[in-house]
Amino acid sequence: MATIRAQVPIKVGETSSIPAELFSFDVLSDDREHVALRFAGKEKGQEWTPLVRVHSECLTGDVFNSSRCDCGNQLAESIEKVSAHGGVILYLRHEGRGIGLYPKIDAYALQDKGYDTYEANEKLGFLDDGRSFAVAAEMLKAMDVGKVKLLTNNPEKERLLRDNGVEIVEIVPTGVYKKCDNIEYLKTKRSKKSHNLDV
Ligand SMILES: [Zn+2]
Repeated sequence: MATIRAQVPIKVGETSSIPAELFSFDVLSDDREHVALRFAGKEKGQEWTPLVRVHSECLTGDVFNSSRCDCGNQLAESIEKVSAHGGVILYLRHEGRGIGLYPKIDAYALQDKGYDTYEANEKLGFLDDGRSFAVAAEMLKAMDVGKVKLLTNNPEKERLLRDNGVEIVEIVPTGVYKKCDNIEYLKTKRSKKSHNLDV
């Protein structure tokens, strides 16, 4: 599985840009254009292990900073932490938990009528969560990353990465970004999918 990398300096906080490498992948099992962003980080002793974040694409949160979800905040936090420590952000093209952008907008409209984030996807005929994280393990393998510190509050991501052969030496929790527009969304992630969120 060949990878191609290109230099993409990334602005982190108020600092000048930090060098990063953006990877594309030749063949992944679901044929989507997933990418990885790798930061070298600073000092590396023998015990150094890359910090890895598996982030699902969210146009509304990542680009427009929508407060309906916490994705934009989590991505910003990931870039800050991974660029400091060194490691990889896997940016998975799993818009709307894998259902795509237009269906996500349909799901948002259903949520406005009272369905929660999972029920709305099911109402539209999709799985409540259609993402496969096996592809994340494939990407790490292609980059020769076998052992990681995982930045997540989602136990399902941890389990699926382990099941696909990734050695996780530490779970690093992400922040919890409560806003009046997303509090029900966060509570649903906690109650239905056991996310470790103090809400
Ligand atoms: Zn989002």
